Amino acid sequence: MKVFVAGGAGYIGSHTVYELLRAGHEVVVYDNLSTGRREAVHPDARFYEGDILDRARIVEVLEAERETGAVAVALHFAAKLIVPESVTHPLAYYHNNVEGVRQMLAGLVEAGVKHVVFSSTAAVYGEPQHGECREGDYTLPINPYGETKLAAERMIRWVGAAHGLTSCVFRYFNVAGADASLEIGLDKDQLTHLVPLIMQTALGQRDTLSIFGNDYDTPDGTCIRDYIHVTDLARAHVLGAEHIVNRQEDLLLNLGSGKGYSVKEVVDAAEELFSFAYEYTERRPGDPAKLIANIQKAREQLGWRPELGLRDILQSDYAYRKKLLCG
Ligand code: UDP
Repeated sequence: MKVFVAGGAGYIGSHTVYELLRAGHEVVVYDNLSTGRREAVHPDARFYEGDILDRARIVEVLEAERETGAVAVALHFAAKLIVPESVTHPLAYYHNNVEGVRQMLAGLVEAGVKHVVFSSTAAVYGEPQHGECREGDYTLPINPYGETKLAAERMIRWVGAAHGLTSCVFRYFNVAGADASLEIGLDKDQLTHLVPLIMQTALGQRDTLSIFGNDYDTPDGTCIRDYIHVTDLARAHVLGAEHIVNRQEDLLLNLGSGKGYSVKEVVDAAEELFSFAYEYTERRPGDPAKLIANIQKAREQLGWRPELGLRDILQSDYAYRKKLLCG
């Protein structure tokens, strides 16, 4: 089937494009290249430059594509996703993550696309009482990133009901790692996520890794997260897209590994593979103590399970970053 991928030049988008092509689908990438890279778009995908906020351009692309077969499903990755940045720049997050989704949905409705896969986040759960999150749990975000994603989830549901749009909403936990080909990975100027920062420190691009806070209510005092390999996550998108097109049924699914690791445990696992320096510093604003996915629903409804573990995540990110460094 033909799949439209908004944000297909970005980190998760580009990995999903690879998996869609590996599964035999036809892929159309739409990206404004603000954070994504043109080189990250697989050569077998068709690329259109455009902004998620530009409804007219989205419709134009979808109409142009219709000549060779209509787009069956649209995947939306084009979002801002850095928790601390959302705390300092909330308006930018509402603009991109809420208004951007509104414009894209309007474009899909206008062009007659009936299925959408949307990237949401564990941040919608806020500070869950037990740390383990189920899709039916109460949602109460503690940062603008989570708040804007939750608003978008709800918008998709209402728009879907009104306009006959089926949706698959994925709530991502901590996504990391790189494709086995090492052709793509997380390549940004401003890295804020734990795994790539560890690797940059191990590769000598930074002096010291900071562990943000060791006074959380967790066994070792550092925050617990659920790390999922980007390839496992991308594979789930292929299954989710196929599912909603074939079964016309809405889905809301967590995507994580189902296992929690504290920041210190991630650092320890990385230290078994590479050497680097770290220190404890102040807490970072907007960080909940513990977020772990319950992935039962994704297992049951998609027949999906994560196949790669923390070691694969660390090793692939390191190998990709080393490749970038060596040109
Ligand atoms: N973290 C850290 N040092 C860093 C980057 C992140 O201690 O240099 C911690 C962060 O406070 C959080 C966890 O690692 O507890 C995961 O953060 P990340 O930014 O990777 O993802 P998030 O959970 O915010 O989406």
